Amino acid sequence: MMLKIKRVPTVVSNYQKEEGSEAPRTVGGCGRNCLKACCIQDAKLPLYAFKKISKVGGKDLVVEKCQEELPLAFLDSLVLGEWEDRVQRGLFRYDVTSCETKVIPGEYGFIAQLNEGRHLKKRPTEFRVDKVLQPFDENKFNFTKVGQEEVLFQFEASEDGEVQFHPNAPVDVENSPSFVAINVSPIEYGHVLLIPRIFECLPQRIDHESLLLALHMAAEAANPYFRLGYNSLGAFATINHLHFQAYYLAMPFPIEKAPTKKIATLNGGVKMSELLNYPVRGLVFEGGDTLEDLSKVVSDACISLQNNNIPHNVLISDCGTQVFLLPQCYAEKQALGEVNAELLDTQVNPAAWEISGHMVLKRKKDFDEASEANAWRLLAEVSLSEERFQEVKALIFEAIALTKESDDSPQYLPKDDVVDSVDPSTYPAVVAGSQECVVLQ
Ligand SMILES: [Zn+2]
Repeated sequence: MMLKIKRVPTVVSNYQKEEGSEAPRTVGGCGRNCLKACCIQDAKLPLYAFKKISKVGGKDLVVEKCQEELPLAFLDSLVLGEWEDRVQRGLFRYDVTSCETKVIPGEYGFIAQLNEGRHLKKRPTEFRVDKVLQPFDENKFNFTKVGQEEVLFQFEASEDGEVQFHPNAPVDVENSPSFVAINVSPIEYGHVLLIPRIFECLPQRIDHESLLLALHMAAEAANPYFRLGYNSLGAFATINHLHFQAYYLAMPFPIEKAPTKKIATLNGGVKMSELLNYPVRGLVFEGGDTLEDLSKVVSDACISLQNNNIPHNVLISDCGTQVFLLPQCYAEKQALGEVNAELLDTQVNPAAWEISGHMVLKRKKDFDEASEANAWRLLAEVSLSEERFQEVKALIFEAIALTKESDDSPQYLPKDDVVDSVDPSTYPAVVAGSQECVVLQ
């Protein structure tokens, strides 16, 4: 039996509506100035080509950049400048700067935002939540259907190793460009979408190359308040077309301040830790000699979750040098009727931002009554149980260790400060979807 729950969707593009509900505009091509063959041939869009950070001392370079108290980095001003331009052009569904935001009093500093505009009442859709990997469906909304005016720029690695910017670059569809576009239902200032290799129509699933692109974007923005997030299917992604989200929030997220316990040092010096004293159990990956090292470890971890049908969220912070990985089971519990009615009534979708401590609330009542205890209660429902988390952690270890063998790179060596090292061989093989989080009916 296919498991579905009624969702109140969020519109991320002005073209994400019932087909035919939009009156065609009087421009060339199909009339919508879209990204498909009808309109894209002669399109010109800005192109930002980032410098690939060199292998040696790459990490230092990124960290240095992040900490410099210089005027806005170029990518930063490009994102915000283009975003503001789209505000002026009236492309957003509401003015996010008028949404009330407050820090919830308490030890953790959860942030609450009242965002009534994001709530779309008209079109509840059915969305399958029990499969993390689902094939791309051309007939459903995807980002090739957005208008060119929603695209801010193309984003790619520079060929000659220097940062380049072209305000009017042709769109080389054959060459798999990645786009940065606005989210027309922003939850904060500068809320954008990074859509890797948009014309390849990839389903929502992490691969090494795409995660690396996201890390590069965080590094290029060079602003610790600019984070990227990723939601898998089953963990509140609403569109099955590979994308990351990103926005600015000028305060630390509670998850970034949570204490951690180091578990291991992995290939390339990537440090792996476990979150402590946080309502959602999760892993933290940090540092490494290069962004590639970090991206490889994290993407291997995500791929193992995908292959084992475990919904998850990812937060990329600290200019791309820190990545949080949070397996979750809220949607499954919701579908099984195991979430209490009070939490359900809030209609809060605990995705990457909420799990990180930025609670986007839809009802004034919930905003007024926001408390640390309420935030904690919601997030605790999102978390895997300790037992399940340990199993998932073992799966991830196994995946990372396996890649290493096939890589012919230095073997995995837990350091002596490992508090809680895991030998995957001591764990029984975890059958995909056999635990409380997965619905088999
Ligand atoms: Zn068109």
